[in-house]
Amino acid sequence: MISVAEALERILSYIDVLEPEEKPLLEALGLVLAEDVTSAFDIPPLDNTSMDGYAVRAEDTRGASPESPVELRVVGEVAAGYVFEGEVIPGTAVRIMTGAPVPAGADAIVPFEETDEPFEKAPVRTRRLKAAAMVEVFKEAQPGANIRRAGEDVRRGQTVLRRGTVLRSSEVGVLASVGKARVKVIRRPVVAVLSTGDELVELGQPRPAAKIYDSNAYSVGALVRRYGGIPKLLGIAKDTMEALTAKIHEGLEGADMIITSAGVSRGDYDVVKEALAREGEIAFWTAAMKPGKPLAFGCFYRDGRRIPHIGLPGNPVSSMVSFELFGRSALLKMMGKTDWHRPLVRAIAQEQIVNRNDPRVFYARCIVTERDGRYYASLTGPQGSGILTSMVSANGLTVIPPEVDVVEPGEEIDVLMLDWSQGEEWGSRQREGMEAESR
Ligand code: AMP
Ligand code: MG
Repeated sequence: MISVAEALERILSYIDVLEPEEKPLLEALGLVLAEDVTSAFDIPPLDNTSMDGYAVRAEDTRGASPESPVELRVVGEVAAGYVFEGEVIPGTAVRIMTGAPVPAGADAIVPFEETDEPFEKAPVRTRRLKAAAMVEVFKEAQPGANIRRAGEDVRRGQTVLRRGTVLRSSEVGVLASVGKARVKVIRRPVVAVLSTGDELVELGQPRPAAKIYDSNAYSVGALVRRYGGIPKLLGIAKDTMEALTAKIHEGLEGADMIITSAGVSRGDYDVVKEALAREGEIAFWTAAMKPGKPLAFGCFYRDGRRIPHIGLPGNPVSSMVSFELFGRSALLKMMGKTDWHRPLVRAIAQEQIVNRNDPRVFYARCIVTERDGRYYASLTGPQGSGILTSMVSANGLTVIPPEVDVVEPGEEIDVLMLDWSQGEEWGSRQREGMEAESR
């Protein structure tokens, strides 16, 4: 038996980062930038106003107050996206809208609030008339007031993002601001997903009494998609050499990774293991984790490419948890990501958790909720590795080390967060939904 950390390390040592491709900007969300991006211009490109108001010469407003306003002649108007062609000479002002470049001669913006402009109440037409006349300024303006300087966000020639950056919404926004319509990113891995077992039936097919629907392909396919890969469902292979070999060959076409489920535990027909071994390299491990003990890992070789293979256990919970611990990291590494650690929180156990006489880490499905700045963990019900509904309301997995036999309520435990949606709320909504449906 090997530890989860060691199994992961062995798997990752066979995972290479995929090659870059060019993508339209929005499609690059969540992917890793494969080039340094610099800006060819200043952002903002010109000094501009951060307020609607009047562009003035600050010295013209000296001494202005509500009691003795300074009166300036309005010589024009400028909106965002336009340049005022004239100049603000002493005694004049230009009506200006947020984002508009500061006219020549002006060195401060007086907001409407500090003038007699009835900016909120007046209909547009009167405002226009007003613009042709005079404006009273009620307050002294400091030089530079309400002006955003050219280049204050990004300087021309500046590298805004370096290769290796994961593109979140903010990075996508910054790339757009420098005019980058297409970006070079590490491409998404295509992950072939194959289910094995004579007992399995495809969705949409009639189900004989002794058969079950293939859920692993969908739970694992969904995880592949969630973490950024492109799942390619190969369907079900019967437990025969021919069926498996054919499916594996089909799967290798265009795939960057293959994930199989079932057929790797001790009681399984050797045919599954043999077929996998015959087509590539494979090792069978027992990872010290509950659920999900048996695990296979290997590589197929195709056209000079090495295609890693992760053989997940068949039990629905085991296959999901094993994917969360191993498949996800492998996928993220392929995508060029370097941080695949998940947030671990210290949470207070709400009930007893027993892991007696088991040399494995217990990853129990739990719901973590936050109350008054502390985290609380409660189990989602029966923890059998076949009870897939126990995954439904879970947002985390407990990490109970082998040396701990029993966790008593009130004790602190580590929880690996699978996501951050509010467990309690989500769980109860889920339950309400189920109850409503069964009524
Ligand atoms: P195995 O690893 O083949 O011994 O399978 C372990 C358990 O997982 C058995 O109860 C299988 O029926 C179940 N199982 C295997 N593959 C799937 C699948 N694709 N969907 C749902 N259950 C499965
Ligand atoms: Mg089986």
